[in-house]
Amino acid sequence: MSESTLRKLVIVGGGTAGWICAAAFARLMGKAIEIELVESDAIGTVGVGEATIPQIIRLNTILGLDERDFVKKTNGTFKLGIEFVDWGQLGTKYLHTFGDAGMNLASVPFHQYWARAAASGHDKDLWHYSLHQAAADQAKFGKMDRVGNTSMTGLAYAYHFDASLYAAYLRAFSEQHGVARTEGIVKEVSRDSETGNIASITLDSGKEVEGDFFVDCTGFRALLLGEELGIGYQDWSKWLPCNSAQAVPSERLETLVPYTRATAKKAGWQWRIPLQHRTGNGHVYCSDFISDGQAGEVLIAGLDTKPLADPRPIRFTTGRREQFWSHNCAAIGLASGFLEPLESTSIHLIQSHVSRLLQLFPTGKDASKEREEYNRRCASEFEQIRDFLILHYHQTQREDSEFWRYCKNMDIPDSLTHKMELFGSSGRVGRDADDLFREASWVQVMLGQGVTPRGYDPMANGLTDAQLTEFLGNVRTVIERAVGSLPSHEAFLAQ
Ligand SMILES: Cc1cc2nc3c(=O)[nH]c(=O)nc-3n(C[C@H](O)[C@H](O)[C@H](O)COP(=O)(O)OP(=O)(O)OC[C@H]3O[C@@H](n4cnc5c(N)ncnc54)[C@H](O)[C@@H]3O)c2cc1C
Repeated sequence: MSESTLRKLVIVGGGTAGWICAAAFARLMGKAIEIELVESDAIGTVGVGEATIPQIIRLNTILGLDERDFVKKTNGTFKLGIEFVDWGQLGTKYLHTFGDAGMNLASVPFHQYWARAAASGHDKDLWHYSLHQAAADQAKFGKMDRVGNTSMTGLAYAYHFDASLYAAYLRAFSEQHGVARTEGIVKEVSRDSETGNIASITLDSGKEVEGDFFVDCTGFRALLLGEELGIGYQDWSKWLPCNSAQAVPSERLETLVPYTRATAKKAGWQWRIPLQHRTGNGHVYCSDFISDGQAGEVLIAGLDTKPLADPRPIRFTTGRREQFWSHNCAAIGLASGFLEPLESTSIHLIQSHVSRLLQLFPTGKDASKEREEYNRRCASEFEQIRDFLILHYHQTQREDSEFWRYCKNMDIPDSLTHKMELFGSSGRVGRDADDLFREASWVQVMLGQGVTPRGYDPMANGLTDAQLTEFLGNVRTVIERAVGSLPSHEAFLAQ
C-alpha cells in the first residue's frame, strides 16, 4: 500500500462550500493533512442557501455536531418538506414531503393501494394519508422515528438556517479542529511546468500559499478549475431557463411553519424560508421573460411580512463543469455547477462531493483512476437532480404566460421522458438506485404536478375492497393519533 504523499490541502473560498469542506477534512483526516483555507472578506459570499434536505443530518453526525447547539446558533427551524403553490395549475398546491405517504403493505408501495381506491372513486388525495402533511398543516414538529408500534415511518426532517450564521458556525468548528484561515484575494496561480498541477497561489498581500491539492470553492467564478485550468461549463438553460434571483429578508412569520414554500410566478417562482428571527425570501426568474424591475416588484408583492432590506440581485447559469476534478484541483459548491434552489439541493451537493473526495482522495502521485471515478459519479448525480427539477417545470398545465408555455412545450432529456411515461402508465417509478430522490419524492411531485397514472400495480389487488377500505381508514387514524401527540413547531424550538 502506498503512503499518501499529499501533505497540504488548500481550500480557496470561505462560503458554505469552503467551510463544509474544511470541517469534514479536519474531522476525518485529523492531523494526517495540513489544511489552509483562503478567503476574502472584501469579496464576500453569495449569502443565500438557507434550506436543506434530510441528508444534512448525516453531515452533522459525521462532524459530531450537537443538534440543539446547531439549531440555536444558526437561528434554525425544522423542515418537513416544500410546499409547491400554483405549479401544476393556478390555484393548486401540494407538499413534497421528506417522508412516505401511508405505509407499505406486503412490499407494495402505499400509493398503489391509494391509486386502486382512487380508480374506484375514492375522493381523498394521497396527502390525506401523509403524516408529514398533517404535521405541516398544524405547524407541529417533534422527533418521531416510527409511529407507535406500527410499521409507519416517522418524521423525516431537515433544517432551515441563516446562511451567514451557518458559515460562521462551520468556521468556528474548523478552526477548533486545526484549520488555518488566511485572509486575502488570490491574484496569481502558479503551475508545475511538467505536470500542469497547481503549485501555489499568491495573494494580494504578496503571500504565497503552496499546496499538494487544491479545492476550488470560489463560487460562480471558479477561479482555479474554470479560469486557471480551463475546464468548460455545460449550460442547461434550455431545460432550466431561470437565470436570475433577487433575495430579501422580511420579518419573521407569526406562525413558524415547518416547511419551505415555493410559489410559482409568471416567469419563475418565489421562495419563503421561515427562520426563528426572520424570513428568507427570494424570486428566481428568467430575465428573457421579465425585467429585473418587474421581478423585484413581484417579490415584494408576494411577501407575507414586512421587508427588512432592499432586494439583492444574483445572476447564474444552470449547468455543471465538464469535469469536477482536473489535475490536482477539485471544484466544490457553486464553482462546480449550479442547480437552482427549487429542491434545496446545493448544500447537499457540497456535502456529497466532499464525502466523495474524501473517499477517493489521492494516495500517491497518480490519481487518474480516482479522478475518473469522481468525475463520473458527480456528473451522474448532477444529471439526476437536473431531471427531477425539470419535471416541476415541464409537467404543468399552466399556459397563462410565455414562460410557462415555453416550459410546458420544451424538449426534455430522454431519461426524464422515460420516467414520466412509466409513471403515467402504472404509477411505477423508474428511478436509478443511487438517485438522491426516493420513490416517494417522484410520486409526490408527479401527482402534485397533475400526472394521473392510467393504471396501478396489480399486486394492490391482493386486498378485498373491504380490507382496502379498512386499511386506508386505519392509516388515517394512526396519523391523527400521532400528530395529536406532537408539540407545536414553536414549542419544540423553545425546548
Ligand atoms: C438564489 C440562490 C438561492 C439558493 N438557495 C439555496 C437553498 O435554499 N439551499 C441550498 O442548499 N442551496 C441554495 N443555494 C446555493 C448555496 O447558496 C450555495 O451552494 C452555497 O452558498 C455555497 O456557495 P459557495 O461556498 O460555493 O460560494 P460563495 O458563497 O460565493 O463563496 C465563495 C468564496 O470564495 C471566495 N473567493 C472568491 N474569489 C476569491 C479570490 N479571488 N480570492 C480569495 N477568495 C475568493 C469568497 O470570498 C467566498 O468566501 C442558493 C443559491 C442561489 C444563487
